[in-house]
Amino acid sequence: MRCHKCRGEPIGICQFCGRAVCERCHGPLPFILTIFVGKDQIPKAVVVADALWCGACRPQPEPLPMPEMA
Ligand SMILES: [Zn+2]
Ligand SMILES: [Zn+2]
Repeated sequence: MRCHKCRGEPIGICQFCGRAVCERCHGPLPFILTIFVGKDQIPKAVVVADALWCGACRPQPEPLPMPEMA
């Protein structure tokens, strides 16, 4: 597998879209693993601060509503 941008040696896989990225092309992006409501009723997000990101895809911060699926 090669970096999807420059065909270089990949250091990992984008957490959002699954493409391989190398040292030069990746970027850090907060990655929300899950959201839960605590005892105080305030929603909290469990976030990975520096998730590996390919820099190309545009992950949404929250799940998108899909009314057409209802
Ligand atoms: Zn690259
Ligand atoms: Zn990506």
